[in-house]
Amino acid sequence: MRKNIVFLVLFISMNAVADAGVPEMKGENGYVEPFRMFGNLYYVGDKWVSSYAVETSSGLVIIDTLDFPFSKWIPANLKKLGLNDKKVTHIFVTHGHSDHVGGAEFLQSLYGSKVIMSEKALELAKEQALKSKGKAVFLPPVVGSYAEDSSNIVVGDTEFKFYITPGHTEGDLSIDFFVEDKGKQYRAFVVGGHGANFQKPGLAKQFMASMARIKKIATQSPAVTVNLSNHPHKNNLFSNRGISAKYKTINPFISQENFSQFIEQQEESATEEVKEELKSSGSTNANNSMQPTADASAD
Ligand SMILES: [Zn+2]
Repeated sequence: MRKNIVFLVLFISMNAVADAGVPEMKGENGYVEPFRMFGNLYYVGDKWVSSYAVETSSGLVIIDTLDFPFSKWIPANLKKLGLNDKKVTHIFVTHGHSDHVGGAEFLQSLYGSKVIMSEKALELAKEQALKSKGKAVFLPPVVGSYAEDSSNIVVGDTEFKFYITPGHTEGDLSIDFFVEDKGKQYRAFVVGGHGANFQKPGLAKQFMASMARIKKIATQSPAVTVNLSNHPHKNNLFSNRGISAKYKTINPFISQENFSQFIEQQEESATEEVKEELKSSGSTNANNSMQPTADASAD
């Protein structure tokens, strides 16, 4: 009897430790139920920021890690999806803003994963980590080798190609790979950063160049048909989720149009903002021309 009580106390306290600091999983906090998009591709992100799990033959790759402590939802989401017995071999981080890198060190410590990001992204992640406060305090991950432009890594049966596509930040990392649905391969693409950045001179111009480059890369055969944008409202993720539950012949997540429209929107909004910047720099003094606009840096 006494043994049982000791065990019970131990069990409860272990669970309390495991659950410590996990934000309540409810809609008001931005929580969304994780789901299998199709085949070997899962959504484990929240209402505002995307996190994807890609299943390879040698384990899982997590793309982006949410703001800490919401990152703590990711292990819980993997469990809900029945993926908790898979090894998380790699974590890819698209750029150094806290909403993408915030949980990288936490997940790395939990799973012993390799974190891959660009050198510039890690520099930014370190700055962001120093600024993090209260419950959102996070550490930058340990990065063994940086992702270089036009490099690739192979994880099990899946090859991931990387491109450095600056413009939202200096170290945006775009990712190009194949996913599978019902035995067929489809080309997926993660654009490393959304929204041109006007906080640093030159980045808006680089953003336009990066979008032009991505368009070229993505239309090479077989063209990209799976738009894995790193914010869910940019690829109609949740409305497609509703459709995909009922789809019979057309998978809504597989659409070349979705990706090309997304890139066009990115170009259009950046062009508009560049115009606005030029206007405001003409009407006020030149020093104001690079003030941040909209919420570009928040993406
Ligand atoms: Zn960002």
